[in-house]
Amino acid sequence: MDEQHAALETVELEQQHTSGAYPKRPLTILRGRGSTLWDSSGRPYLDMTSGQGVALLGHSHPTIVQAVTDQAQRLITCPEIFYNDQRSALYQALARHTPQGMTRFFLCNSGAEAVEGALKLARLLTGRTEIVAAQGGFHGRTLGALSVTWKAEYRQPFQPLLPGVTHVPFNDLAAAAHAVRASTAAVIVEVVQGEGGVRPARPEYLHGLQRLCDEHGALLIFDEIQTGLGRTGRWFACQHHSVTPDVLCLGKGIAGGLPMGVVAWQAALGGFRRGSHGSTFGGNPLACAAALATLRVLEQEDLPGQAARLGHWLLDRLLRLRSPLLRQVRGQGLMVGIELRCRVTPLLKALMARGVLALPAGSTVLRLLPSLVVEQAELERVCQAIDESLEELYGD
Ligand SMILES: *Cc1c(COP(=O)(O)O)cnc(C)c1O
Repeated sequence: MDEQHAALETVELEQQHTSGAYPKRPLTILRGRGSTLWDSSGRPYLDMTSGQGVALLGHSHPTIVQAVTDQAQRLITCPEIFYNDQRSALYQALARHTPQGMTRFFLCNSGAEAVEGALKLARLLTGRTEIVAAQGGFHGRTLGALSVTWKAEYRQPFQPLLPGVTHVPFNDLAAAAHAVRASTAAVIVEVVQGEGGVRPARPEYLHGLQRLCDEHGALLIFDEIQTGLGRTGRWFACQHHSVTPDVLCLGKGIAGGLPMGVVAWQAALGGFRRGSHGSTFGGNPLACAAALATLRVLEQEDLPGQAARLGHWLLDRLLRLRSPLLRQVRGQGLMVGIELRCRVTPLLKALMARGVLALPAGSTVLRLLPSLVVEQAELERVCQAIDESLEELYGD
């Protein structure tokens, strides 16, 4: 009773004070471990959201908890005007894993900030202002990142946004060739569109974009905020296709759940001029220690390899589901989209009733972003819940 009362109070207080920006699910989450979350009544849920892809190592991974606890006791904040051991070690670890030549980094605190940093860098390095982005793309919600994001619903209330942004159809090289010109500073795309419905870019498209950028002296920016760090079965999704961008944006799971974004770029391009960019919290030792621990676990446990194996199994298992409501199953590694012939909301509700939390990607796609430490048996339970839910929904 006390717990139930506390949960009601939580909901009431949030409703009184929340910004209004978020659609809410009727669930108060109090605890997490691995791929499981517990609500206020102690009920467990299999978490296929990973906090929007953030909990790469699952919830409260002991190595992350230890790293954060240790660092919090030593030093939490230290601006980049000073050197710090955690930050230098993180740079070294990042440089070891990012594609060839990408050894310069700007550390910030979110995905959108990484995109802002990449856009500013592109302007600075090219002296140009025009950006080509893809229809269906999602890059965040601050004004610059929003300008390259596609969805009208997100953009429309905030016009005018950045000038000089052109959105071209995704996976259409001819359209990109038409848009990229001598005044283009950068082309920005996701290697697998996440919010846009889990849509992988075709390899020829990515290679073509690289050629176009080279020809016109524009920078190629890959937003791997959702696809990076092992999610798709390689350290970075672009490595499936042997395409190396000029600039790479990272975020979400990079610090095991603590806020962090990273802009990585080819050292040969140069970098920011002194004073041309900055962040109070960027590169703080606490987030750096968490990120360093995350990279170590990813490497030691070969979680990108595990994501490839389990992702293969999951896709195969989902492709064998039979339901008139299914239109297409697609994905790469542990980033999977299930496109329906109906709206996704009822399926999300039916899954929640069966103890499975998942995400939408647009109005008709169910998105699964499990942690990379998920077990096959857990994924099997998720597949069964999807199967039963589809049957129930079709019956209605
Ligand atoms: C989540 C996401 C962002 C935005 O990240 P925030 O941390 O929410 O600002 C940008 N790009 C992609 C591809 C994302 O998935």
